[in-house]
Amino acid sequence: MWIASEEGTACSNCGWVPQPKAVRIATTNDRLCEITGAARPDQHPDQFFGQALGWYRSRWPDRWAQKEKSGRWWAWQQTREALRLEREKPPGRYWSMAPAPPTAPVAGKLYSRLIAFARARRG
Ligand SMILES: [Zn+2]
Repeated sequence: MWIASEEGTACSNCGWVPQPKAVRIATTNDRLCEITGAARPDQHPDQFFGQALGWYRSRWPDRWAQKEKSGRWWAWQQTREALRLEREKPPGRYWSMAPAPPTAPVAGKLYSRLIAFARARRG
């Protein structure tokens, strides 16, 4: 196990600033897994949101075709929770942003939240 710290550059578009943070990382063979779910991921909201859209579209293509807006709202809620954003409404451009292919960490995060949600509903 080792500690990694990463800083990116601030976004001139929306004012987002990367948080310097230490992340505990477990190594298994050649794969790296972040094991601190509590830490805020150091990821630009635009990136996470675009990938959440892509994930939604590929998982529920029918819903995406019929109710794109609710898919966008869902992706925004996931982004808010994952990155711990305080603003309640998405930036205006999020209503027309193109979906992006989700990376493995984002897909994993969304999938685990889906499972947690299903478990909570079953009680
Ligand atoms: Zn930005």
